[in-house]
Amino acid sequence: MDFTLPDEHRMIRDTVREFCDEEIEPIAQEIEDEHRFPAEVFDDLAELDVMGVPVSEEYGGLGGDQLMYALVTEELGRVSGSIGLSYAAHVSLGSKPIELFGTDEQRERWLEPLATGDSLGAWALTEPGSGSDASDMDTTAEKDGDEWVINGTKQFITNANVAGSVLVKAVTEPGAGYDGISTFVVDPEDDGFEVTTVWDKMGLNASPTCEIQLSDLRIPEDRLLGEPGEGWDQTKKTLDGGRISIAALSVGIAQGAFEAALEYAQEREQFGQPIGEFDAVRDMLVAMDRKIERARLLTHKAAVAYDNGEDVTRLSSMAKLDASEISREVAEDAVQVLGGYGYTTDFAPQRFFRDAKLMEIGEGTSEIQRLVLGRELGL
Ligand SMILES: Cc1cc2nc3c(=O)[nH]c(=O)nc-3n(C[C@H](O)[C@H](O)[C@H](O)COP(=O)(O)OP(=O)(O)OC[C@H]3O[C@@H](n4cnc5c(N)ncnc54)[C@H](O)[C@@H]3O)c2cc1C
Repeated sequence: MDFTLPDEHRMIRDTVREFCDEEIEPIAQEIEDEHRFPAEVFDDLAELDVMGVPVSEEYGGLGGDQLMYALVTEELGRVSGSIGLSYAAHVSLGSKPIELFGTDEQRERWLEPLATGDSLGAWALTEPGSGSDASDMDTTAEKDGDEWVINGTKQFITNANVAGSVLVKAVTEPGAGYDGISTFVVDPEDDGFEVTTVWDKMGLNASPTCEIQLSDLRIPEDRLLGEPGEGWDQTKKTLDGGRISIAALSVGIAQGAFEAALEYAQEREQFGQPIGEFDAVRDMLVAMDRKIERARLLTHKAAVAYDNGEDVTRLSSMAKLDASEISREVAEDAVQVLGGYGYTTDFAPQRFFRDAKLMEIGEGTSEIQRLVLGRELGL
């Protein structure tokens, strides 16, 4: 077993890291405070050719794999949870399903602009009344001649107000449960699409989280992704990949918080010595480092299994659960290491702490991950 990253992966990671340090880190707190989605950063990421890392070159992507995508997502998270979240939602939720389940025509029309970074993707599953129990949705799509008519409300949709396309889940066969759900490619320019709320949140405010209203939204037949009734199966496969990216993002947030704490602990002196030399502070830093290494290994293991075509439900869920929990723990300890300064917005740990909390909620809460893992054990 070789734990060394392939050269190509290291090269992409190092390029993205350099960009993150130079271009994102200096504005990370500012965009959070201003609640500003930094479109210019995504233009630059498109220039770097990383907006479609795991999408094939045929459709404008980089032709990389899940491991490479996890590395890029981690680097973004290390400087900005918001940019990492909008990026992950764009790639694994808004783009990848079109490659996996779309027709050649759909890939050309909708995937290519996403993979090249000309437009941004979004994915609308959650509703005001259905989150963890996502299949219990109220949004409907009814066939009328050769068109579909969609009605409903979607909640907490990342990127919806800046997206060029949104993958919307809707019930096409009422009463058929999991088999009655389908996926549609919706263009925010379509009549009947309205962003009704952009939420203020405890963190991640540079990543827009929207409520959208779909009112008699009419789209042609060719916007259906896959066959009618395949929407739930597609959702499970999408989340298998998506959870690996949330794990990677969590590791990145933890890494950013840890680096800030380590640097501070080496410089700040109390009682005549750097605080990092006190056993209590050193032990906190050692625990952070250990947790990050463990979560990163699990994340990479899940990514490699995904790339090998294995069933990754267990590994992706486990990686997401572990990484999201250690992300919040590490970020909280980083605030503690900085003492009073850690509680101020002049220093990054408070932002990482607020951002990390979402990792335990989005793409399935920790409770739902435990449910999935229990099921995998036959329980
Ligand atoms: C910033 C942000 C970005 C998001 N981005 C997107 C997006 O792009 N697209 C999208 O579709 N959705 C998105 N979401 C929605 C997110 O996936 C849901 O919020 C999440 O799945 C939880 O659903 P809920 O909020 O309805 O909570 P609920 O399902 O109401 O859960 C409330 C609590 O009950 C617990 N609970 C529920 N059921 C069970 C159970 N069976 N066993 C044990 N405990 C249970 C939960 O774990 C939680 O603690 C986003 C959310 C946020 C906050």
